[in-house]
Parts: sequence; C-alpha cells; structure tokens
Amino acid sequence: MFDDVNDLYQQVILDHCRKPRNFHELPAATCSAQGHNPLCGDNLKLFLTLEGEVIKDASFVGSGCCISKASASLLTDNIKGKTKAEAEKTFERVREMVTTGTVNGDVGKLAVFAGVHKYPARVKCAILSWHALMGALKGEAAPVTTESEQN
Ligand code: ZN
Repeated sequence: MFDDVNDLYQQVILDHCRKPRNFHELPAATCSAQGHNPLCGDNLKLFLTLEGEVIKDASFVGSGCCISKASASLLTDNIKGKTKAEAEKTFERVREMVTTGTVNGDVGKLAVFAGVHKYPARVKCAILSWHALMGALKGEAAPVTTESEQN
C-alpha cells in the first residue's frame, strides 16, 4: 500500500508500529478518551495529564492496524509539553494533511502521514487518535468514533 510513498516515511511508520512510544496506561491521567474506528477495527484509549492548559504527559493503549498505532505513538510524542490550543492547532493541520496531502506549518515527524490521503480507507486510521485527543481535551465521556466524521 505504500509503494509510492517515501521509504523514510514508511520506515518511521513501521518503527512506531512495531515499537509504539508511550504505550501504557497513565495512572496520573487527568483525562482520557476511547477511540474506535469500526471500518478497520482500530480501538485505542488515549490518556492525558493536564496541568492547567499544558499537556504534561500523554500515553495510549489498545489495538489496531499499523497506521493507527504509529499515529497514536507519534501523537503522544508530539503533544507532550504543548498547550491545549497548540494541540488543537496540530489536530487541524494533521486532519488537513491526511485528507488532502497538504502540509501547512510545522508538523514535525507527523509529516510521515502526508501520503495517507492517497489511501482513503486509511485516513480514519491515521486520524483516529487525534479524534480521541480532541475528545479527551473536551472531556467527552462517550467513546469517539470515526463514523460521525466525514473524513
Ligand atoms: Zn486501521
């Protein structure tokens, strides 16, 4: 599925898929959210430790395909130390990137998912953890599902 995507990007995704970072529960979490992508069967739970407006720590558990795990792994690395507003901005950038392939602003390593827009069935896998993040930040009690989203 990645035949025309940059090899380096593919390697980063495979590495995070096989050895996901921050892959554990967070006992001190102040909020969490469950994300579910019924199209693929991805299920993950995201944990955040908020201190005021700042995301001090982030982690996740769950199971899913390589893209969803790599996405959650890179997400947790990316948002640590960010404010809620910065995390929301990153979410908007990632969403635009995985749906259109356009990278707006600095997304760091998350740029490895830019090629996902060529595989519409995989977009929800890549964005799932980000929807869970938004759910956690908004304090939504109900599980977040990609089915309510058009992308
Ligand atoms: Zn998936």
